Amino acid sequence: MNNTFTENKLSNLKSEKLDWEIVRADMKNKLGVDIYESWLKKIVFVEEFHNYVLLSVPTRFIRDWITSRYLDQILQSLKNHKREIIRIEFKIDSQNLKNQQGDENLNQLKKKENISFIRESSLQYNRIDPNKTFENFVTGSSNKLAFEASLKVSENVSNYNPLYIYGGVGMGKTHLLNSIGFELKKNNTVMFISAERFMYQFVKSIKSNDMVKFKEYFRNTNVLLIDDIQFMNGKEAMQEEFFHTFNALKEKGSKIIVSADRPPNRLSRIQERIKSRFSGGLVVDIQKPDYELRKKIVSKKIEEFNNLYSDGVKISKEIEDFISKEITASIRELVGAINRIFSFSRIYTKAPNLSESKVILKDLLNLNENKVTIDLIQTLVCKFFKISKNEMLSSRRSRYLVRPRQIGIYLTKILTAKSLPEIGREFSNRDHTTIIHSVKTIEKLKEKDPTMVENINKLKNQILYNNTEDEI
Ligand code: ADP
Ligand code: MG
Repeated sequence: MNNTFTENKLSNLKSEKLDWEIVRADMKNKLGVDIYESWLKKIVFVEEFHNYVLLSVPTRFIRDWITSRYLDQILQSLKNHKREIIRIEFKIDSQNLKNQQGDENLNQLKKKENISFIRESSLQYNRIDPNKTFENFVTGSSNKLAFEASLKVSENVSNYNPLYIYGGVGMGKTHLLNSIGFELKKNNTVMFISAERFMYQFVKSIKSNDMVKFKEYFRNTNVLLIDDIQFMNGKEAMQEEFFHTFNALKEKGSKIIVSADRPPNRLSRIQERIKSRFSGGLVVDIQKPDYELRKKIVSKKIEEFNNLYSDGVKISKEIEDFISKEITASIRELVGAINRIFSFSRIYTKAPNLSESKVILKDLLNLNENKVTIDLIQTLVCKFFKISKNEMLSSRRSRYLVRPRQIGIYLTKILTAKSLPEIGREFSNRDHTTIIHSVKTIEKLKEKDPTMVENINKLKNQILYNNTEDEI
């Protein structure tokens, strides 16, 4: 990025409100899509103060992971856009468990103009990712048709033009478009752009009186790949331009490949004539991955990982099954989940066991965190140590009561969002210093006592997942 430009922008922004979308885009650029998708996307902006910001993440594990690895870079990204920021605070908000993809896309759309100074170069948005190719696209019944149609287009054996691929978020549409681009760019000029970028480029060209160049740019390509076309909705002027671009390209025999989150006839606020052009080509969909496909993807990734790190860290079949069974929403979430397991394995030089995996993936699992109440924790801890609740909450200091009490307090601290005084109140009005002491005692014991670790894990499993089997 041009320095003087950045400086100017910075002084302009000095007292402006922080634009979180820009910071996100910046983090994504800096740390890469994988880290962003797996970790940073979970961060929700809460509030901005004079010299710090409050962010929230869905689980403690994610907070700890982010703060121990990416905090500096996040802070730097924030500082780039607001100099005064000197620290970041995180809160855990389990309400944010599921990502709000729709809102997010909408937000990005709204903020599109602000992203301009981050990604100035036209090269940047026409980048084809060499890691997303046909070769590493795993097929199953839900995506086979889309895969084969894409392959045919890239082998020049398809007469269908355009090819229209649709499906939900994270199903592999962009991966397929990228694969087509990757193949075809060997012998063609290829333009790969999201509808958002197309729109941004369009608006920018109008503002700078550069429409001639814009038209030339898009109409001279042999292959036009447009991702997420649904974002064109309502933008009449742009649709007009797109329609003419489309016709011009088709006339000269260029290939057009489009992706969207829904079939052509269900696109809202898109001109009928455009929809009918889309319907006139080949329309294929990608469905949610079934168990077979998920299993295939997980096995493949784990096999690659196990081969790469032949130093003893092996991800077990049990974990493989667990992920394939439980992460069902999309392939993106599936890949994200596997990456987390890998990250954990690399950092701790051991593969996570089932209980650890559940904690790592908690926000991706369809489990309701709100079920965790202090009462539930106390009940399960008492049952586990065979004491009564009255005994646990009493002030008696017998050893057989003190430990379970401390464990109950510790688990409440780590599994709920309750503050120390709140926890104190729930444990018979104990002082918050007693609560801190209990937490520290258990943390210390965990370091040297494997039985303690095991008991805590078992209890965690029971509390979080209603799981009374011995899983560890
Ligand atoms: P979409 O564009 O439909 O939202 P993406 O193409 O971005 O989804 O896919 C999300 C993630 O999942 C990417 O990392 C992609 O590489 C991966 N992915 C999707 N489908 C497959 C597949 N069939 N095989 C391997 N990886 C896949
Ligand atoms: Mg996509």
